[in-house]
Formats: sequence, structure tokens, C-alpha cells
Amino acid sequence: MRNKLVVGNWKMNTTIDEAIALINNLNKELDEQQTVVCVPFTHISELSKIKKANIKIGAQNISAHSNGAYTGEISNVMLKSLSVAYVIVGHSERREYHNETNEVVNTKVKRALESGITPIICFGESLTLRKENKHLPFIEKQIKEALLNISAEEFKQCVLAYEPIWAIGTGETATPAQAQEVHAFVRNLLTKLYNNALSEKCKILYGGSVKPSNASALFKEKDIDGALVGGASLKAVDFTQIINA
Ligand code: PEP
Repeated sequence: MRNKLVVGNWKMNTTIDEAIALINNLNKELDEQQTVVCVPFTHISELSKIKKANIKIGAQNISAHSNGAYTGEISNVMLKSLSVAYVIVGHSERREYHNETNEVVNTKVKRALESGITPIICFGESLTLRKENKHLPFIEKQIKEALLNISAEEFKQCVLAYEPIWAIGTGETATPAQAQEVHAFVRNLLTKLYNNALSEKCKILYGGSVKPSNASALFKEKDIDGALVGGASLKAVDFTQIINA
């Protein structure tokens, strides 16, 4: 049985004061529900001190290197030293604006795992690929390459997130059936890459304009194990409603 996981991606939003207010609101809204919020690097240290125990802090990116002359980068070692539990890897915005290839994503997954940080590995197709009905082979390649040389033992610690690019920040959500089709396809692929037990245990989140009004229909699908939430994670009430959906 997979427990539902809802992860917030604050992206490049909030000043430190706004971030503190948002965490304080989440502290109030949430009782015991477990959740993860992936916040800007600059806020990790402060928010870790004031959040309740059921809220885990995640990062939105990780360097492909552990240390050295990589100006402006943040490494797995640094994130570990702040007790960061999760990191988003391969978000489509990083693939698009920072040229992150599947190979880079794979290296970042390895760095996260080396430090015991759970990578939330994002994948998903463009609107063009979907319209041409080429999304499944594209996703298969993304996942195979992101998980290249990741052992079964390491894979146990990974979370996957299907994020169709056409649904991110657009207000347009994949229908539950569209998302379920991809999630089932990916679970089947994971069985081939690893085995049935590991595939059944793996959490596959859906991301793309998830809001209180569409979350519960998505969560009813057999292979949708939660959500990666961008815009709606910036409002404590909306985010809590999604967690409770
Ligand atoms: C995201 O950034 O991962 C995301 C899914 O954003 P939104 O919920 O705003 O579409």
C-alpha cells in the first residue's frame, strides 16, 4: 500500500518574510498530515527551524557535483548538512531553461542518493509530442536514462513525478484518465527495469495545475500516488485542501 504524498514546489517565489508567514500558516492548517515543501535555497535554514515535524523541507535543484569550483551551485553535501530530505530533479523548467539533459538528471539523482536525499524525478512530454501520440516512448526514454545505473536498492529511495509540460502553470490539467494511462505505463516500465515489488512500492506523483477542485479525482486513480503542486502550494489553505483531498 502506497501512502499518498503531496509535495509543494514554491519555485522562485517568496521573500524570507513571506516564506516564514507561509510556513506558519501551514503549521496552523496541518494537523498530523505529512507533506514536503520544496522551497528556495535561501529559505531552507530558517524554515527548517520553525516548521512542524510533519512538514519536511525539500530543495528544488541540486548540483551534479559534490563540491569545488562551480560558482553559484548548491551541492548534495550542503543540502545534507541542512537535513534536507527531498530534492526535485529534472523539473521541466530546469530542462528547458538550464539545458538539463537526461544524462545530467541521472547524475543529479546519483548525487542526491549518495547523501540519502530522496530525489523527486520529474518527467513529462510537450504538447507537440502528446498531439503526435509520441508521449509514451519519449517518457520511457526519459525514465530509462534518468535511472541509468541506479541499483534496485537505490531506486527504493526514489519518487517519480509525471508532469506533462502542457499542464504546468497553465491551468490546464491532464484528465485523471490521461494521467492514469501514463502512470500505469511507467509502473509497468519500472517492473521491467527492476521488479514487480519495487514497482508497486514506488510513489508516482502527478503534477500540472493541481488544485483543490481537481485533486481528489486525480487521487482516485489507481497509480496516482499524490501530487507535485506549484502555484497552489503558495496558498496554505489550498495546499492543505489538496493534501486532504
Ligand atoms: C510544478 O511546478 O511542478 C507544477 C506542477 O506547477 P503548477 O502546479 O503551478 O502547474
